[in-house]
Amino acid sequence: MKNLKEVEKLVSYTKLAWDRKLTESTGGNMSLRIGEEIYITPTYFVKHFLTVDDTSIINFKGEKVQNKKVKFSSEYKMHLRLYKERKDIKSIFHAHPRYSLILAISNEKLNIRYFPESIESLSSITYIPYHMPGTDEFADSFIEGAKKGSNVFILKNHGVTVCGSSIEAAFATLENLETCCFAWVTMKLLKEKPSLISEEDAKILLRSIEGSQNY
Ligand SMILES: [Zn+2]
Repeated sequence: MKNLKEVEKLVSYTKLAWDRKLTESTGGNMSLRIGEEIYITPTYFVKHFLTVDDTSIINFKGEKVQNKKVKFSSEYKMHLRLYKERKDIKSIFHAHPRYSLILAISNEKLNIRYFPESIESLSSITYIPYHMPGTDEFADSFIEGAKKGSNVFILKNHGVTVCGSSIEAAFATLENLETCCFAWVTMKLLKEKPSLISEEDAKILLRSIEGSQNY
């Protein structure tokens, strides 16, 4: 396998996502872009058991260029659309995290001003109406949000998709989203009004990140 170290990292973070309940059963698909090739997880696979040999390399036409035996994710079109639209995206995690799924079936939008981390990583959420998974219509529904710079997509009655400039960034955004949704759901159950970081402080935080090289 080409780029073995990077693919091993994709496998490790995919397994970590499953082990930390950021996706479940055979759900979710993760990918990494290196140059003109996409490394992607297989379809219908419990990610805890994932190995490098289970991943596929595909090109931007959706053709497999390596590992012919493995059936790659049926959601590949979504990955290709996002990579095509945004050169800065290097990794994509599509998943079904428990608390984020509650947001996906809710008619509410998430207030992200709970924690600095949620403001930092969730500042551009796009909410996408339900579309049949795996279809062109589903994949095309990401284009508008991607153009606006969204890295976080809440998919109605389905799950979430997050994008990052690295595997670590995509994973961190996925986990930040789930933590924020956990806080949102728990405060609802407690019937408590959450304390929020003020809009002014949120703006200051976002401005400081924009000026930082680490962002
Ligand atoms: Zn899904």
